[in-house]
Amino acid sequence: MAEDQSHAPVPPSPEFAAAANAKADLYEAASADRLAFWAEQARENVEWADDFTEVLDWSDAPFAKWFVGGTLNVAANCVDRHVAAGNGDRVALHFEGEPGDSRSVTYAELEAEVKKAANALLALGVEKGDRVAIYVPMLVESVVAMLACARIGAPHSVVFGGFSADALHSRINDAEAKVVITCDGSYRRGKPTTLKPAVDAALDKGCPSVTNVLVIRRNGEDVAWTEGRDVWWHEALEAAEAEHTAEPVDAEHPLFILYTSGTTGKPKGILHTSGGYLVQTTWTTRSVFDLKPETDVYWCTADIGWVTGHSYVVYGPLSAGATQVIYEGTPDTPDKDRWWAVAEKFGVTILYTAPTAIRTCMKWGEEHPAKHDLSKLRVLGSVGENINPEAWSWYRRVIGGDRTPIVDTWWQTETGAQMIAPLPGVTALKAGSAQVPLPGIVADVVDDAGEPIEGETAGYLVLSEPWPSMLRGLWKDDQRYKDTYWARFPGKYFAGDGARRDADGDIWLLGRVDDVMNVSGHRLSTAEIESALVSHPDVAEAAVVGATDETTGQAVVAFVILRGGHEEGPDTVADLRAHVGREIGPIAKPRSIMVVAELPKTRSGKIMRRLLRDVAENREPGDVTTLTDSSVMDSIRAGASGSAD
Ligand code: ATP
Ligand code: MG
Repeated sequence: MAEDQSHAPVPPSPEFAAAANAKADLYEAASADRLAFWAEQARENVEWADDFTEVLDWSDAPFAKWFVGGTLNVAANCVDRHVAAGNGDRVALHFEGEPGDSRSVTYAELEAEVKKAANALLALGVEKGDRVAIYVPMLVESVVAMLACARIGAPHSVVFGGFSADALHSRINDAEAKVVITCDGSYRRGKPTTLKPAVDAALDKGCPSVTNVLVIRRNGEDVAWTEGRDVWWHEALEAAEAEHTAEPVDAEHPLFILYTSGTTGKPKGILHTSGGYLVQTTWTTRSVFDLKPETDVYWCTADIGWVTGHSYVVYGPLSAGATQVIYEGTPDTPDKDRWWAVAEKFGVTILYTAPTAIRTCMKWGEEHPAKHDLSKLRVLGSVGENINPEAWSWYRRVIGGDRTPIVDTWWQTETGAQMIAPLPGVTALKAGSAQVPLPGIVADVVDDAGEPIEGETAGYLVLSEPWPSMLRGLWKDDQRYKDTYWARFPGKYFAGDGARRDADGDIWLLGRVDDVMNVSGHRLSTAEIESALVSHPDVAEAAVVGATDETTGQAVVAFVILRGGHEEGPDTVADLRAHVGREIGPIAKPRSIMVVAELPKTRSGKIMRRLLRDVAENREPGDVTTLTDSSVMDSIRAGASGSAD
């Protein structure tokens, strides 16, 4: 069924607004004195061993120091402090395995595990400052592994478990990791999978820094074993001392390295540090999700291999004392209602997921969520890509029962935490807009010369002031850090995304500026044309790119996936072109539209438009190492060469 096309702003209900953690006065407080605002959030949201003496040192810009002089232990903030406050019996993690096994771990149990894991790492010779690579599925042990690294001040580099041995090899060597933490295997779509063989293959290619591999046992699959190097996680923890005192580290001590998803090119090794990162992830978890740790059950579906898994599975929610769900498997195993069965089973109240997942659920049909009681849900979140208004409205109606606010959160691996998002108790929500910078965040829309443009306008999205959870650089590459983010508009962080501001001052993300098209002198946004296509009842997903065109400069080329039950007919393409013409204007009508079965996506589910641009311009596709399934590109190219346009 087509959603309401009016998309009138949805104000918070009076009850929600009255009980909300974050109220409108935060905006005023932050704009009156931004640094005082962050100092207050720092002291309220994080426990410091030594208080900081200066909020921000920006003298060595673009290398920031936040909460100068402060010391803290990130893991103790995420675990020990809740036990000390008397909440040791609260469930920290409800784990749901794909085969249906589940396990609930309290904060007290989590504390005991993290201490032993910290001791196990120390016993392997990992010292403060040493790097640890983590290549695991979604398990309780994976969270424990990250926290154990944080506890001893050893920065982790989590590599998504779906990456190949080659990707793992280059990431291990880039970080010069001393230990690799992995797993025998996991379950995907009802079948056991293996991870350890990829680690073995990566190390066989030469990783001179690695001394040991710690192996979690999950599915009991046979694994090759290198004596002296490989150690079972459970044996190491059994042998480890139970007590461990968390030493505070400097606020600027490195917490982790994480590579971006590679949507636009070669992934970048983003460096995050301890204090500012924890302050902003904790504060946003409380404010943007309105998390009430005593009563909420929170579920973020992101894998810990992505920044969303770092900031909104591990650090933000645990630091805020949340009870949360983690799920090992795929959303359609054993059936397409699995997520909703999990949400019902644990009584999930806050759900955070990505537009790609929402559009997939739309494609599957609303009969699947309808089988389950989702009435406890009270806040929904979205991250990773533009959420088309059509998908937003479906999410709110079908999953949120037309009752829940949806927070569309714009942020990046580089920003560490949410930056532009509504506050659910304050903002009147607009479907498809991330809306306004959070209190304490200063974002602008600028023109080619970097000048802020006022009023209703479109341009480049920049962050004009430093923020606590900002990246501190690219691992071992200061120059690339400066060139990538600070060179285009001096003094401002350029995010790479285009944005439009509407008459109310709300921000609409337009996609990457590399993807913005120029058709006969008109700037057209991929995101807007995609949303127009997805608002057609036949279309489930769409990707739009600009291809060089002799007459118009660039021409709009669209790739669409039809919704379940819809077949391509003789009029489909003409209908869709006319629909875009009506929704946006004749100039936006795609020159050609290709109906495809799948779109090329990164392993975090984002559409890789640069590869489609290669197809549209008849080039060999560029770097495909972060693509989920390379056969998708072959079938699209076969289709493209067969179609005459
Ligand atoms: P790479 O930087 O390697 O090309 P990437 O940009 O996909 O990869 P991430 O850091 O995972 O890596 O993604 C951040 C980007 O995702 C943002 O710059 C933006 O383009 C997009 N994004 C994230 N959240 C939203 C949102 N709520 N609305 C629109 N776009 C979003
Ligand atoms: Mg990016």
